[in-house]
Amino acid sequence: MPLYEYELCEGNCAACGGRFTLRRPLSAPELTGCPACKRPIRKLLSAFNTPSITKPVSHSDAKKAGFTVLKRVGKGEYERQ
Ligand SMILES: [Zn+2]
Repeated sequence: MPLYEYELCEGNCAACGGRFTLRRPLSAPELTGCPACKRPIRKLLSAFNTPSITKPVSHSDAKKAGFTVLKRVGKGEYERQ
């Protein structure tokens, strides 16, 4: 099962510390809230556990989901779009 890292969108949570990792099956529905405090969370992308099969997502989809779209301009360097 892949390991996902999550971060609270806002506020803080005593139970999860505002940032936590969870192992979830690929078939599990997207987690949208902290299991402890139910606050909205976002999934962090970690380079070392990115699944090899990723769903293509457009920049507009990412923006709709509240992401800041970053363009990779070099090794470890990103540019805001
Ligand atoms: Zn929490």
